[in-house]
Amino acid sequence: MEQMDGLDVVGCERCDDLCDSRSRIVNGVGPADADLLFVGEAPGANEDKQGEPFVGRSGDVLDDGLRDAGLDRGDVRITNCVRCRPPDNRDPRNGELANCRDYLETEIDRVDPEVVVTLGKVPAEHLLERDVAVTGEAGDVFDVTVAGQPQRVLVSVHPAATLYDPSQRETFEAALATAAEFTDAQSGQSRLGEF
Ligand code: URA
Repeated sequence: MEQMDGLDVVGCERCDDLCDSRSRIVNGVGPADADLLFVGEAPGANEDKQGEPFVGRSGDVLDDGLRDAGLDRGDVRITNCVRCRPPDNRDPRNGELANCRDYLETEIDRVDPEVVVTLGKVPAEHLLERDVAVTGEAGDVFDVTVAGQPQRVLVSVHPAATLYDPSQRETFEAALATAAEFTDAQSGQSRLGEF
């Protein structure tokens, strides 16, 4: 696709506001054939500075959660719905989500993960294409169609939610434990037969 080099977006200028607010495009990281693809909302200040998703406090929570679930950050792929930092850390606008959508769809298609794990409300609603009550639906797995292909999506609360509300920690950990069941790395067996 124009403006993609493998899994990376290069030189995109689709969103005026985001081109002004970003220092760089923050592409996904991790193995190109990962079993798990985590999808967040958009880069924050730390991610914009370092050029990698989830490297700030949310990233520390994600890394801890992965470790507790028997996984390593290096085993999974991590990306965002929108690849440029929105000004003042506001939520990405619908037009920005739409502009970035085919990049995410291409990444999902090329990585072909066992499951996409949505971190927070924005990616859950973006991929399930409906309203999502994230706390209530965290840990649930849905079969949806993304860019014409069947895709399993596991809902999780955003790691930052556990910082604002420690009671969400258990919900987050349970969702990651479910995610880990889809990898060979953790259990040596897949839950594919269950779905
Ligand atoms: N929050 C997100 O949703 N994505 C990041 O990359 C960092 C924080």
